[in-house]
Amino acid sequence: MEVVLGYVLGVASVLLILLVVRTRRTASPPQLSAVVRDGRESERDRTLAELVEVVTELGEEIAQLTFDPAAPDVRPESLADYRRALDSYGKAGDALDGRDLDRVRQQLACARNALVRLDARAHGLPVPIDVSRAARDRGRPIPYPFQTKRFSYSGSNERSYLIPIDWPEPGRAAITEVTRNGTGLTDFNSVLVPAEEAKPNTVGFHQLQGNGRARFHLATVPDSHHAPTHLQIVPSGLQPDTGSWTVRLHPLSEAVELLREYQGTGSEVLVHRSNAPAVLGIHIDTSRSWEVEYRCLRKHRRGERCMFSRLGTLIYGSSDASLRSARFCGHGLITVTAAQPARWSLTVTPERPTGSALSGLRQRLGI
Ligand SMILES: [Zn+2]
Repeated sequence: MEVVLGYVLGVASVLLILLVVRTRRTASPPQLSAVVRDGRESERDRTLAELVEVVTELGEEIAQLTFDPAAPDVRPESLADYRRALDSYGKAGDALDGRDLDRVRQQLACARNALVRLDARAHGLPVPIDVSRAARDRGRPIPYPFQTKRFSYSGSNERSYLIPIDWPEPGRAAITEVTRNGTGLTDFNSVLVPAEEAKPNTVGFHQLQGNGRARFHLATVPDSHHAPTHLQIVPSGLQPDTGSWTVRLHPLSEAVELLREYQGTGSEVLVHRSNAPAVLGIHIDTSRSWEVEYRCLRKHRRGERCMFSRLGTLIYGSSDASLRSARFCGHGLITVTAAQPARWSLTVTPERPTGSALSGLRQRLGI
């Protein structure tokens, strides 16, 4: 343990030096001016400049980690992941010097995987297996997405990816914002990978077809039975030249605020903050099936039961130009799942006392 710790601390000081060097290098004019050639940026040079930034940000992130490798109760697995993050960061820097873009991406993904596992363990969440490392050990191609920023990934519709989930707020659900272009359709699933050789267990299932944008609810317990560990991105039929996708993870606090009315398209995640029970109505124009789910966030009185203590179906349909409504508790999360280019509008109408409620009130008041 002492040897490992000494090594880690040694690498940590190297990291700080690297960080300074990289930061200085990013800011130095020759490095940035090198990406401009004959007044035009070549794709490769632009990517290189982006990667310099990503490596610099990664170094800053590692330097700011609250993880203490010298703490007395530190777990060996966490120490190993910390060491991997430092090693991969250093190797990403070397690969940058050699202008080996694929290797930079590989090392960035290794470092990111290690940090995600470190974070999951620190928050008592299921720890995502590093499937890319396991695949590399078996000599198979490594399914790395391209990452320009933390929580932001992009890839091609020509292959499948398995990305460890980097939760914006560990322990809380998130929003997966997806944009896609090209023909065919792609699945954007959340899955639990229980072991290296085990088949991923699908927790949440979403699809996006053709060109479009959607925001899906990335559920975890208690809204789903299992806490997912990875995003599994799978195109239907692996054909060449079928376009690309980007995924960005947002905290739930970035849900769209639904006051009285909101107009949207496709899939969206919204929040309604008023505590008063109300009627939620949707007018939707689509020939495909659609669904509105609701999760109550209102504090109910003791003993008062709520059907929506977990995310559940509130309204659904499958016909053209539907107008439906349902009563809901008020404050809560609302998700609309509909295929592009479905256009819809949601309205919230305060609940009026019903005839019987009104007569009951009159009776009690004696009028
Ligand atoms: Zn409720």
